[in-house]
Amino acid sequence: MVARVEPPLYCILLGPPGAGKGTQAITLSQDLGLIRLSTGDLFRENIAKQTDLGLRARAYMDRGELVPDDVTIGMVLERLRRPDCAAGAIFDGFPRTAAQARALENALAACEEGIACVLDLEVSHDVLIERLGGRWMCRGCGASYHVSYHPPTVAGKCDECGGELYQRPDDNPETVANRLRVYVEQTEPLQQFYRERNLLVVIDGEQSIEDVQQAMRVAMELARSRRLFQFNTRRAMPPIPQ
Ligand code: ADP
Ligand code: ADP
Ligand code: ZN
Repeated sequence: MVARVEPPLYCILLGPPGAGKGTQAITLSQDLGLIRLSTGDLFRENIAKQTDLGLRARAYMDRGELVPDDVTIGMVLERLRRPDCAAGAIFDGFPRTAAQARALENALAACEEGIACVLDLEVSHDVLIERLGGRWMCRGCGASYHVSYHPPTVAGKCDECGGELYQRPDDNPETVANRLRVYVEQTEPLQQFYRERNLLVVIDGEQSIEDVQQAMRVAMELARSRRLFQFNTRRAMPPIPQ
């Protein structure tokens, strides 16, 4: 019997701050056995450990600006080289600029890999403000909660890991306004970048957490089958020798 070989699966969750990327990425990554690569979480871990990277990133994050591309790309490529990324990854909050998208595309192409799908969560401005204003995040695992829409079972404690919940300093109204502006200017153009590559799937992010989850799962399963087909047919049909 021939062992079944699955190619790695790389998916991107796109969408403005507060769209629900983190909430969905945690469940999807557990279901699919992929790691969740959240650049926001990686920066916050570095800040907590007071590394040089964390010290550099902090000033930008506090202002609601993007951390410079060279720092962000270097951090992601380093993370992708670790063995737990062998099966692929769900990118949450990366890429956020054209330079990041191109760097990721080139890095994957260098190992004959590519992005399988980009799930773009669409949520209106007013709903985003409401979500970020009531967001509480876990210090331990980065899970998101909401005072009204997704409260924890025990106040102030994470359902997943029991960690302490806190309100992110960059979720204050002024910084949120800047982050949403930065999203429109620097990240939204990536919709076109991925649409041109036939990878963009738009998902209505204003549905319930469960309904968004279901829509994303369907899209990811489709992407996985597509990727498997591509992978197998390439192996099964080598070019005809001239
Ligand atoms: P949210 O989930 O609310 O969009 P994140 O946790 O993804 O927020 O990001 C928090 C902050 O970390 C951003 O405002 C930005 O300063 C920084 N950051 C995260 N990802 C990136 C990225 N890919 N490029 C540059 N900066 C980033
Ligand atoms: P992002 O990672 O895109 O910034 P989060 O996953 O942290 O977004 O979600 C932002 C806030 O909105 C959190 O408080 C979360 O509990 C809440 N939230 C996420 N998805 C939904 C949803 N479908 N309906 C209502 N609230 C949601
Ligand atoms: Zn937790």
